[in-house]
Amino acid sequence: MKNFIPYGRQFIDEDDIKAVKEILHLVLITQGPRIDEFEARVADFCQMPYAVAFNSGTSALHGAMYAAGIGEGDEVITTPLTFVATANAALYVGAKPVFVDIDRDNYCIDIEQIEAAITPRTKAIAPVDYAGYPVNISRIREIADKHNLVIIEDAAHALGAIRQGKMVGAEADMTMFSFHPVKHITTGEGGVIVCNNPEYYRRLKSFRSHGITKDTELLEGYPYPWYYEMQELGYNFRITDIQCALGISQMNKLEGFLSKRRLLAARYEQALGKLKWLRIPPTPSEGSLHAYHLYPLLLDADINRLDFYNYLKENNVGSQVHYFPVHLQPYYRKNFAYKVGDFPNAEDFYERQLSMPLFPGLTMEEQEWVIKVIEGYGG
Ligand SMILES: *Cc1c(COP(=O)(O)O)cnc(C)c1O
Repeated sequence: MKNFIPYGRQFIDEDDIKAVKEILHLVLITQGPRIDEFEARVADFCQMPYAVAFNSGTSALHGAMYAAGIGEGDEVITTPLTFVATANAALYVGAKPVFVDIDRDNYCIDIEQIEAAITPRTKAIAPVDYAGYPVNISRIREIADKHNLVIIEDAAHALGAIRQGKMVGAEADMTMFSFHPVKHITTGEGGVIVCNNPEYYRRLKSFRSHGITKDTELLEGYPYPWYYEMQELGYNFRITDIQCALGISQMNKLEGFLSKRRLLAARYEQALGKLKWLRIPPTPSEGSLHAYHLYPLLLDADINRLDFYNYLKENNVGSQVHYFPVHLQPYYRKNFAYKVGDFPNAEDFYERQLSMPLFPGLTMEEQEWVIKVIEGYGG
């Protein structure tokens, strides 16, 4: 294989380019109708009434923390095996991220350990669908209801994953999807919160745009045609119509993207499932479907991961580690005194994990090469 194969990459074709080009001829390139249209597409896909799009998945998570009323002194329970943004969102509103170790079977938060981490200050649980595996929300819901907690699901990896017949996005109080280029669909940068609570919806929209409203029913003053009020402190976290035009065009391809990812995963499973020195990703139970944002391999403890990584790279196969546990990031160690050994399952997983190339544009021939290279390691 002459070309280098990355672990992930966006898929953009002529239709996408045409959709973006059309917008550039219009007057409204932001704050226009494409945003509502894109939000409606995402909400419908998730079988939920509301979606609010943001300029990134991270700002969307920040918005969700705000909408849930989380603030100074509160605690948010999450997993250390995630991108830093999940925990950082709690920090943005003044709350403390409290980590709970991962379940060795599916690499998502260990639900059995959640209750032990709950204190009177806990306000929310933010589980992550690691790699696209749909975390068991009904179990988390029981705990959340018992302790009066909000569930903010970080589904950045799981657009299109199915949990017991329901779309991921349909069950948590708020669910975030990211549209960064490595994710299932892209808007360049972008993210969304889907929810079914009208008050969350109102707060999310307000937060996205400076806390400003023009809604005559909400105004304290007289509704002159030019009048608006800033009633709470928000940000400019708006997405543009240019991005949403790309998002709509990408939504048209989402089913195709998902089937291609699942096909590639099935082919990996068939070939790599035979190798004794690694573990392929877990398959969700009957009635559920993985979304395969990533294809994370877990290597045996006696495999030198750096050596394997370099070997893959020399053979033009890109790979990536997901993730260095968040509690061990210098910022978290310094400010919260987290240390090595706090979450042994996540730490052990980190030491032995490597994600293989998986994206809609990966050709069968390229994948066969990746498989051949992996099979040839050490042999
Ligand atoms: C990508 C990602 C995010 C953040 O999304 P951005 O759109 O890049 O801000 C948050 N959480 C997880 C798990 C992610 O993979």
